[in-house]
Amino acid sequence: MQELLPCFRDWLATQRDEAKALTLLRALADESLKVAGSKDPQQLEFDALDLAQACDWPERDDFDAASKKIKSANLEKYLSSRTAGLEAYFAQRGVQHALRICKRSPSGRHRAQWSLESYSLVPPVATVDAQRDNEPVDAGLGTDGPQIEYEYAAAGTVRPSWLARPLLGNGWFRTKSLRGLLFVCTGLAPMVCVAGLVATVWLMLFVRRPVTTGDLALLVFAGGLSWVLWNSLRSLWWLLADRIIPVADVLLGWSEAPAQLESFKDGNARIIGLVRYSATCPVCAAAVELRYGEGQEGRRLFGCCVEAPQEHVFTFDRVTRRGRRVR
Ligand SMILES: [Zn+2]
Repeated sequence: MQELLPCFRDWLATQRDEAKALTLLRALADESLKVAGSKDPQQLEFDALDLAQACDWPERDDFDAASKKIKSANLEKYLSSRTAGLEAYFAQRGVQHALRICKRSPSGRHRAQWSLESYSLVPPVATVDAQRDNEPVDAGLGTDGPQIEYEYAAAGTVRPSWLARPLLGNGWFRTKSLRGLLFVCTGLAPMVCVAGLVATVWLMLFVRRPVTTGDLALLVFAGGLSWVLWNSLRSLWWLLADRIIPVADVLLGWSEAPAQLESFKDGNARIIGLVRYSATCPVCAAAVELRYGEGQEGRRLFGCCVEAPQEHVFTFDRVTRRGRRVR
């Protein structure tokens, strides 16, 4: 337990969510670490007030309010939806166990207690054999088709190109910084251009002369420019609204695989950074990259196999980092 807790705390530090559950789990890990050497199992359990005090919430003196807030944070769901990443992190550290949340609700007037408990990462041998016997012949092709697990390359590990370096630095920036201001300008510049185009068209209404070749050229140029501006504004909006967008190749280092821009929270700061979700196609073992869907799903990201991008298509969920086959 004493060696698992620092690992758990490090994993929590790598999580970038705006979830109350994350704050609570960090507090729970810190408090557990303080008493990790204790022989008394009750010392490793914390009730709602303990947790609210550890988080320094305004509900620190009100048990009912604290308890309600913790219930709504849904700690169990937070961890269970991220199990794949958590277990991979522990396995990478070379430990055989991982931690999960355990809630004990004693009967009567006693308060519910939360604690962290360890469980083995290696499934017992008997169940592995049983699973193998029951596996269908076309392995991995269950009712939903093969599952896919995405690997995550965190911000800072994906190199931007020299063109994007003034804005992205080492691959990420805080929104409340000089670079953040520059980023806002990349949104404002297209708007200014659009205003300029509108003004030009309006002024041309007062010109009383025949149409020239120059006018036609200007029209084509303005049309093309509007299209580019519209697209860049739309991507910025989608980045803020959907948290993730695929990034153009010109912004990536020469030898980098396709990557995404993601907006996430680190403490109180919002960060925009280059990250990469990648996977191996379970059908043909080629690389899987994220692309937008077509038609109705033009705003939804799918994992598409680079060898058969129209056929080996998987859903993408940036929280669970899993997907299932679409077709
Ligand atoms: Zn494939």
